[in-house]
Amino acid sequence: MVQVDVLVIGAGAAGLMCAAQAGYRGRSVTVIDMGKKPGRKILISGGL
Ligand SMILES: Cc1cc2nc3c(=O)[nH]c(=O)nc-3n(C[C@H](O)[C@H](O)[C@H](O)COP(=O)(O)OP(=O)(O)OC[C@H]3O[C@@H](n4cnc5c(N)ncnc54)[C@H](O)[C@@H]3O)c2cc1C
Repeated sequence: MVQVDVLVIGAGAAGLMCAAQAGYRGRSVTVIDMGKKPGRKILISGGL
């Protein structure tokens, strides 16, 4: 079984920010998302 310090559900702006902060603090992090790509709305709002 894989063990991590932090499990973030949702790779949106908030989830990715939380994951980055946890990583900066030395925590092992896994991010899961129901979508095929992370940050979909970020990409939309960025006009890409
Ligand atoms: C068309 C559009 C244009 C926008 N333009 C701008 C802009 O120009 N400037 C601006 O500041 N903001 C803009 N926004 C708003 C901005 O995109 C959102 O405020 C921001 O994405 C919210 O981030 P969030 O992480 O809270 O949620 P979300 O971005 O919605 O991320 C949530 C993530 O969680 C995942 N998820 C949800 N439920 C589950 C589950 N049960 N299991 C697994 N994964 C799950 C979703 O797939 C999603 O990837 C725009 C939004 C849209 C739709």
